[in-house]
Amino acid sequence: MIIGVDICNTIAQVNEALALHFLGTSKVPDDLQKQRQWNLPGLNPDFFRSPEGMNLLSQAKPYEKASEVLNSFIYKGHKIVYITARPQETELVSRRWLRQHNFPLGDIVHSHQKGESCLEKGVTFMIEDDPFYAEQVKRAGIPVFLVRQRYNVDFPAPKMDWKIAGFILPKAIPMMKRNERS
Ligand SMILES: [Mg+2]
Repeated sequence: MIIGVDICNTIAQVNEALALHFLGTSKVPDDLQKQRQWNLPGLNPDFFRSPEGMNLLSQAKPYEKASEVLNSFIYKGHKIVYITARPQETELVSRRWLRQHNFPLGDIVHSHQKGESCLEKGVTFMIEDDPFYAEQVKRAGIPVFLVRQRYNVDFPAPKMDWKIAGFILPKAIPMMKRNERS
């Protein structure tokens, strides 16, 4: 199986890093926790292309247990492909970050059309946080698991956090395999 994995706020705590950079606190304020994208002065689409933005991405903390869970898929013979809306220019930063935090090797696809990217890469299921991209993937007919965030509570898909993903996903995978065959 090929497992699609988003990076920002799925395996990397980018919102916490943004809050620290823009607001001086790593505790994300309540109102921002409910928003998938933040409207803050200086935080525009080009921010992540800037040295400051890239530095922020490289400093983001990984979610605890995320690398452990993804590596367990590799040991079982599955493949990981990272599908991210980060700009192409961040590829090296992302690759270094993944290696530094012991995430499995895998292609990095930069995409704003994640449904299409999942189909192109033959993804069996996708792990995402953002309801906007989760919707694209779902529409492409590919199951999505969401890493639980305040802004995705209403999205109709199973939610998890990495601490329980090691129990949930291995149970869900055999069911997906059956669906693949039928
Ligand atoms: Mg994300």
